[in-house]
Amino acid sequence: MLDVLEKPAPAAVGDRHGQYDVLVIGAGMSGMYQLYRLRQLGLTVRVIEAGGDVGGTWYWNRYPGARFDSESYSYGYSFSPEVLKEWSWSEHFSAQPETLSYCNYIADRFELRRDIQFNARVARAIWDEAAQAWEVTTEDGMRLRGRFLITALGPLSAPTMPKIPGVGDFRGEAYHTGMWPHYPVSFRGKRVAVIGTGATGVQTIQEVAKTAKQLTVFQRTPNWCAPLLNRPIDEAEMAEIRTRYAEIFERCRNSHGCFIHNSDPRKAMEVSAEEREAFYEKLYNEPGFGIWMGNFRDVLVDQRANDTLSAFVARKIRERVKDPKVAEMLVPKNHGFGTRRVPLETNYYEVYNQPNVELVDIRATPIERITADGIRTNARDFGFDMIIYATGFDAITGGFDRIEFRGLNGLTLKEKWKDGPRTYLGLQSAGFPNLLTLVGPHNAATFCNIPRCIEQNVEWVSDLMRHMRDRKLTYVAATPEAEAAWTEHVYELAQKMLFTRIDSWFMGINTNVEGKNKRTFLLYSGGAPAYRERCDEVAKNGYAGFELR
Ligand SMILES: Cc1cc2nc3c(=O)[nH]c(=O)nc-3n(C[C@H](O)[C@H](O)[C@H](O)COP(=O)(O)OP(=O)(O)OC[C@H]3O[C@@H](n4cnc5c(N)ncnc54)[C@H](O)[C@@H]3O)c2cc1C
Repeated sequence: MLDVLEKPAPAAVGDRHGQYDVLVIGAGMSGMYQLYRLRQLGLTVRVIEAGGDVGGTWYWNRYPGARFDSESYSYGYSFSPEVLKEWSWSEHFSAQPETLSYCNYIADRFELRRDIQFNARVARAIWDEAAQAWEVTTEDGMRLRGRFLITALGPLSAPTMPKIPGVGDFRGEAYHTGMWPHYPVSFRGKRVAVIGTGATGVQTIQEVAKTAKQLTVFQRTPNWCAPLLNRPIDEAEMAEIRTRYAEIFERCRNSHGCFIHNSDPRKAMEVSAEEREAFYEKLYNEPGFGIWMGNFRDVLVDQRANDTLSAFVARKIRERVKDPKVAEMLVPKNHGFGTRRVPLETNYYEVYNQPNVELVDIRATPIERITADGIRTNARDFGFDMIIYATGFDAITGGFDRIEFRGLNGLTLKEKWKDGPRTYLGLQSAGFPNLLTLVGPHNAATFCNIPRCIEQNVEWVSDLMRHMRDRKLTYVAATPEAEAAWTEHVYELAQKMLFTRIDSWFMGINTNVEGKNKRTFLLYSGGAPAYRERCDEVAKNGYAGFELR
């Protein structure tokens, strides 16, 4: 039986048929900040959230080992000097419970909950052309109307299960990392299977291996992982970080992905092999995404450059894993370093040196089915007490696909995006007036230290709302021409990137989801500074590319 999180409670009756200036879907980092900003404009707002409380990602992903890959102090909101003064991070890369506490503290601090409807999952959002408003219906039948609808659905909020027969037959404990239960789960003395070795799988595996009697990892594609090198932050260091907040946020603002890591101005082949090696070694021994985001500026665009980096990291894996056969299984062969999401790890590779851990390559011996007692591959029957599905998410567009958005002329967003998303600035799609999409596809926020881009998205949308309120405008719609030009620009930029040559969720591929087997492109690869400049220019030019009335 798959243990799904708490059942939704019925929605509050008092809110039925409520009318609002703005409806927001989702109460993660995006939805919370959007609510705060819209309130400041004096607008009536209702946030609709499927979960039982705030936090989004940090509410749902309670699996063991869940933590930041962003430096904690670069992840928190920057908008409130009080918050920066009051909140202390205890680790450079904080674990999920601390981040969830942070989200709760924000909700308390700004009294956000009174405008949030929890345990309410939006099923449908229909544009009512006559009323010029969105009518939103939740799964349990609550209906709300909003002049504007803002999605804060999250890029990684639609968990996917693998397409394996027999999932329901298993008699032991079963969990998906993205729907982890709220009660404690013990691995001690148990035979545990983890399916999946993406970023969440890696974090889970290194934790479960500590206490499980036997851990069996089912791997389809090895990923290039790099050391996280986390460490605690004591009071003195936190005080020092506080003095540097302005500098930290400025640094994020000016870097491609809003991390504190800036890419190196040199190209990989401009330096000698020794210098290159020394630089990779330095980055490998530094915390965080430096090796991905702070590397030579061409490692993600030039195959030769990328090959040198992949060869370096492959050597590290072979050094760290004792059994050469297992090491070979862990070295990616079908993509270069950084062309898929890089999991950051703490002793991940060393886990495979433990006698209680086994790695199974499911490309060589595919899983045939889940049985009542465990997992059957075409080579063997495995018995388990627990199966953990670390099979990730229907990324970026998954949250949208799960809602029936109907715009002008009854067109659904899912139908419109079936061959890949089409947007203007990643913030609106033509034919869906008054619908704004925070962290939507083709938005810089999708390839970002996300809260930095969330703040940009929310502030831009809030400025638009202010502009419209002040001029008594009630309708905003991206023009088809602006959308076509933006979509072309997104694809043109993407051509340069090595990650467009392989299958991954960046490219809209998810073999566990019907219809997600064709390469499209979901991110924006031009970098946050260029994106921000473009958004600002559009606003300065009277929201060029949008029809306002
Ligand atoms: C395990 C994990 C670790 C991560 N680590 C990092 C990191 O280190 N750095 C980084 O920058 N990013 C990280 N991310 C990405 C993370 O998603 C973002 O940082 C950020 O939390 C996104 O905030 P959000 O509010 O946009 O989305 P979310 O936090 O996903 O919130 C979206 C909310 O919308 C709700 N929702 C969705 N659909 C509906 C619906 N139909 N009806 C009602 N409610 C709905 C969901 O329940 C959810 O609460 C991580 C993601 C995961 C899964």
